[in-house]
Amino acid sequence: MEDEIKGYQFETCFGMGNCPHCVISSDIIAKNLEDILRNRDLKSFLKKRTGGSLKMHHELRVSISDCPSACSRPQIADIGLIGACIPHITDNYCNSCEACIETCKEDAISLNNDRPAIDNKKCLYCGQCIDVCPNGVLMKGKTGYRIQLGGKLGRHPRLAEEIPGIFEPDDVVNIVEKCLDYYQMHNKKGERFGEILVNKGRGKTLDDIFRYLLLHFI
Ligand code: SF4
Ligand code: SF4
Ligand code: SF4
Repeated sequence: MEDEIKGYQFETCFGMGNCPHCVISSDIIAKNLEDILRNRDLKSFLKKRTGGSLKMHHELRVSISDCPSACSRPQIADIGLIGACIPHITDNYCNSCEACIETCKEDAISLNNDRPAIDNKKCLYCGQCIDVCPNGVLMKGKTGYRIQLGGKLGRHPRLAEEIPGIFEPDDVVNIVEKCLDYYQMHNKKGERFGEILVNKGRGKTLDDIFRYLLLHFI
């Protein structure tokens, strides 16, 4: 079994060219991130930390999905990336066709005096309203990734928590590197990233921990 263990697992969704819901193409970032993971030799690292009894559940998981449908399950990965596009409302003429409202699965769009309004608390940045708007009222704004940290299954499963913001691919690579530095610096016995974040932040909220990570490592 140990021969099958790489020290990390890396997963992507079907991605660009294979899925109409793709918000961003992850081909390049996926290659860069897998190179980074391979070069860290996490298998040797984890072998030392676990005293030689390395198992599959110790492996660090990184997962990328190219849209919020999240087919590659980034919410249960140590580091999860979700493609995201913020709709930008232009000054173009809105004919109140309501195509955007019908398309939005989150019920995040309403029309106000013949102008669209987007509820940012509901919007998942899937970009589907942009594709159906016939008049270019809704256009692509900032496009990149949402980043979620600390998800896992196993004996004590937990969903990942999201760092606020949409990050461009170069920033994502930088943030992942810093997270890996933090993970390796604080890993004592092969713990998963989420356990490290929770243990380091005992008594603090996850928001505090992310603020600390952002300040010192990201
Ligand atoms: S995550 Fe989105 S883009 Fe990727 S396969 Fe699923 S639906 Fe398609
Ligand atoms: S980006 Fe997606 S979730 Fe947000 S308003 Fe448009 S369709 Fe709805
Ligand atoms: S799809 Fe475009 S034109 Fe139609 S209601 Fe929405 S914003 Fe207006």
